[in-house]
Amino acid sequence: MEKIKVYIEKEKIDEKISELAKKIDNDYKSSGDLVVICILKGAVYFYCDLTKKIKRNITEDFMKVSSYVGKESTGFININVDLGVDIENKDVLIVEDIIDTGLTLTRLKDYLNSKNPNSVKIAVLLDKKCKRTQNIDPDYCCFEIEDKFVVGYGLDYDEKYRNLPYIGYI
Ligand code: 5GP
Repeated sequence: MEKIKVYIEKEKIDEKISELAKKIDNDYKSSGDLVVICILKGAVYFYCDLTKKIKRNITEDFMKVSSYVGKESTGFININVDLGVDIENKDVLIVEDIIDTGLTLTRLKDYLNSKNPNSVKIAVLLDKKCKRTQNIDPDYCCFEIEDKFVVGYGLDYDEKYRNLPYIGYI
């Protein structure tokens, strides 16, 4: 079993998520329906803690996507679990664990925009900005991190370590 070092403590995560929830409440104060989408599986812990702290009414949904990168870096996403609600004319907030190259979120945003929502924004727990190859940035982010492979708080290594209460690295 690999030794995991603590990278971001759970108290710090909690603090940042509280700040983020307040910001979201404020930014969508005068908006209509807000659909908050959890991207399975990595975002589950972040999503649950964030949505419990958002005070306004939201509609919740879950999607599961996987991304594949071809030899010439032409990526596309495979939708394993699709939307269960109609997002036409609604504000949409995607909640994802981490943005790395940005390919997954670029493709996902394009897919959601094809359904004519009012807006699509992105909230991530972690941003590896140094790895970005796509012209995309999250609208909300808890922590910008260096190029480390992180696990815990929903993030896995080979489906393990998701249940660590902190973010660690191997
Ligand atoms: P992107 O399409 O932005 O390159 O990749 C995003 C996906 O890569 C994330 O949803 C996540 O599944 C995976 N990923 C990227 N970096 C890490 C990491 O440090 N740890 C884990 N567990 N997954 C990562």
